Amino acid sequence: MLELGFPKRFQDWVLLCVKTVSYSIIVNGEPAPPFPTAKRLRQGDPLSSFLFAIVMEYLSRNLHRLKQEKQFKFHPRCAKLGITHLSFADDLLLFARGDILSASYIHQCFNQFAKASGLQANLTKSSVYFGGVNQAVQQDILQALGTQRMVARISSWTAKKLSYAGRTQLVQTVLFGIQAYWAQLFKIPIKVLKTIEAFCRSYIWSGENVITKRALVAWERMCTPKSVGGLILINLKLWNKVATAQNHWDLAHKTDKLWVRWIHSYYIKGQQLDTIPIPQHATWMIRQIIDARQLVNQCQVVVRRNRSLIRHIYLQLLGQLDKIPWKCVMLKNEATAKAKYTMWLHFYGKMLTSDRLLKWGVAADPVCVLCKWHNETRNHIFAECDFTRGVWVRLLAWMQRSTYKASTWSQYMQWATTNAKGKSQTATRFQMMFAETVHMIWIERNKGGSMYYGGDATAPGHLN
Ligand SMILES: [Zn+2]
Repeated sequence: MLELGFPKRFQDWVLLCVKTVSYSIIVNGEPAPPFPTAKRLRQGDPLSSFLFAIVMEYLSRNLHRLKQEKQFKFHPRCAKLGITHLSFADDLLLFARGDILSASYIHQCFNQFAKASGLQANLTKSSVYFGGVNQAVQQDILQALGTQRMVARISSWTAKKLSYAGRTQLVQTVLFGIQAYWAQLFKIPIKVLKTIEAFCRSYIWSGENVITKRALVAWERMCTPKSVGGLILINLKLWNKVATAQNHWDLAHKTDKLWVRWIHSYYIKGQQLDTIPIPQHATWMIRQIIDARQLVNQCQVVVRRNRSLIRHIYLQLLGQLDKIPWKCVMLKNEATAKAKYTMWLHFYGKMLTSDRLLKWGVAADPVCVLCKWHNETRNHIFAECDFTRGVWVRLLAWMQRSTYKASTWSQYMQWATTNAKGKSQTATRFQMMFAETVHMIWIERNKGGSMYYGGDATAPGHLN
C-alpha cells in the first residue's frame, strides 16, 4: 500500500481492522473467551475483496515487468496484446511460451509475490496446460514448477434416498449452475451436453449415477415452462445456442472486453463480422461464435435492447407450445413438492399403475387394491374407483363444498380444473387439497390399501 501511494492514515486504518480481529467459539451455547488471530481478516470481511485487489495489483505489476526481460517469451497468442496473466476473483491464469526459461520466469515472479504477500497457490488446485509442446519439454517444465497435471474427478451424487421431486430439484440446481457459468462463457460441444443431460435424466428417474434409458416423461417436455406442462428444467442445448449468439453479439459490439479485442486482433483484423469467411485455422469455439451470426441476425432487435433478454430469445426458441388444460392446478399450487410431482405424473398418466406395468411385461396384480374389484388404470384409481370417490366426497363435505359428481375421467378433469381456476382463497385451497389427495391416494395404493383395509396386501410396482 505504501508503494501504491495510499495515505499513511488510511494504511493505519486498514492495519487496525486486520490486527484487531478476534474469534470466539460457542461452547455449550455460551460464547467462550475471545482469542486473537494472527494477522488474519475476518471470514467474509467486506474489506477482504478490496485488499485482495490491491495485493493482486502487486502481482500484476511484477508480471508486467517480465515484458522487459529478453529471455521471457510471450505465449504466441498473447504477444500482440501483451497478456501475461488473467485473474478473476481468486483464480489466476498465467501465460507464457512453452519453453523452460519463460515458464521459470513466470514462476519466479509468482514466488516473489507469494513471499511478499503471504498468499500461497494451492497446488492441488493448480494445473498446467500445454498446447503444441513436445513431451520432453513438458516434463522439464513440470519438474521445474513442481506441480502435476490434474485429472478432474466428477464426484458422484449419492443422494439416492431423495424423492423424484428432490432429485429434480438437485438436477435443476446443477443445470442452472452450468447454464449460469459455463454455458454463458463457452459453447459446449453437443456430445458433452448430451452426456450431461443423460446423467441428469437417469439420476432423476433411477436415483443412480449411471446412464439408463428409463424415463417416465420425455426430457424435452421437462425442460419447458410449467404452463405448457414442463418442470422448467434448463434445455442446455438450446441455451448453449442462445449463449453463443450472445457471444457473437458481444464480439461485434463490446470492444472494451479483452477476449473481444483478442479475437479481433488475431482473426477478424478489421473485416466485417457479417461477411468474413469463417477462419478455418481458428479454434472450434471461435468458429462457432462467428458462425452464430445467423441466429443473431434473426433476433438482433431483441438483443440490442437489453442483455437480459437473452432469456426471452431462449423462450422464443423453445417454440410455441400448447397450454395444458391442468395449468391452473400446476402453476401456483402451494402443496408440497412431492405431492405436486405425483400430481404432475398423474396428469401425464405416467404413474406405474398395474395396466402399464403389465404392458411392459412386469408381473403385477391387475386388480385395483383399493376397491378390490375393477382393474387398475389411472382413470380408474383416481376418478372411477369407489374408494377414491368416497375420499373426495368426505373431503369436500369437510371443506363445505359441493359434492363430487364425476364418474369418468373427463368429468373428473372438468371438475378439478373448474374448482382450481382463479386466485380466490377457495381456489387456492382446492389446488393444495387436490395435489395432496392425489398423492395420498397413490401412497395408499402403494401400501396395498392397508390403511383402508388394515390388511397386509403388497402393492405391485411400489414407487416413491
Ligand atoms: Zn378401485
